[in-house]
Amino acid sequence: MNSPPTSADLLIPGLYIVATPIGNLGDLSPRAAAVLAGVALIAAEDTRVTAKLLAHIGVKAPMTPYHDHNADAVRPGLIARAASEPIALVSDAGTPLISDPGYKLVRDARAAGVTIVTVPGACAAVAALTLAGLPTDRFLFAGFLPAKGGARDAAIDELASVRATLVFYESGPRTAATLAALAARLGDRPAAVAREITKRFEETVDGTLASLAARYADTPPRGEVVIVVGGPLTAAASVAELDALLVAAMARLPLSAAVAEVSAALGLARSAIYARALELRDAPAITAS
Ligand code: SAM
Repeated sequence: MNSPPTSADLLIPGLYIVATPIGNLGDLSPRAAAVLAGVALIAAEDTRVTAKLLAHIGVKAPMTPYHDHNADAVRPGLIARAASEPIALVSDAGTPLISDPGYKLVRDARAAGVTIVTVPGACAAVAALTLAGLPTDRFLFAGFLPAKGGARDAAIDELASVRATLVFYESGPRTAATLAALAARLGDRPAAVAREITKRFEETVDGTLASLAARYADTPPRGEVVIVVGGPLTAAASVAELDALLVAAMARLPLSAAVAEVSAALGLARSAIYARALELRDAPAITAS
């Protein structure tokens, strides 16, 4: 049921972190609309973008820019006001602080004893996880990888042995290169590319990192993109298969040679296989009672 935004004087003073839609304006929650209608000031990443959202819900509210280039200068003033008035922080789309400005504002407001209230809502990373069909029990949000090759490769290498589904933000034009770099350094894991989530041309394509890199090499996906990558063991038919191969190889070979053999056989990064090999080697033996 839609209820109209409520009036200002219901909000206690504090900093309200307000999630906004990632494309579909219908995803703005009634509570978010009420808070935006009720605050004394909205700190917005881009006031022109937020003005459109406010026009959509029929709200007129004072706004001030808060973005990477002015944040240090305006933060103390915002915190001082939030001590005595309700103030909202919004980003252009989705949840503030998630690959968007805001964490230092929250940190300093908290240190100053200002009340922090969150108004949760859309977040592209979580939305993509619900679309990808990859394990969600453990995931690591990695945000944007560095644009430059060396730094990007180093960042990917850090993630190779993380036993969790990985989530990356990316732009359409860079998607194929990022997928190729991920395939080269993580092995050809299962993955999905979700684009334009909640918008008219929403699409999720799954495959492996290499097949997706090939698909997008000549025709980059249009719009905004989230890349979701299965953890290191998802490329094996099962953990049981991986374990069986490792146990057999470790019976014949020294540990590092066994790891090299199995990682080559399965197309998985050595670091991930190595971690599993150590677990198997160090597991207490099961003896019959
Ligand atoms: N704070 C936002 C959130 O909660 O998702 C993310 C902001 S970040 C600057 C922008 C990136 O989020 C885009 O480059 C893209 O990777 C992802 N993104 C945002 N909206 C999206 C959408 N509708 N579909 C797919 N990806 C999206």
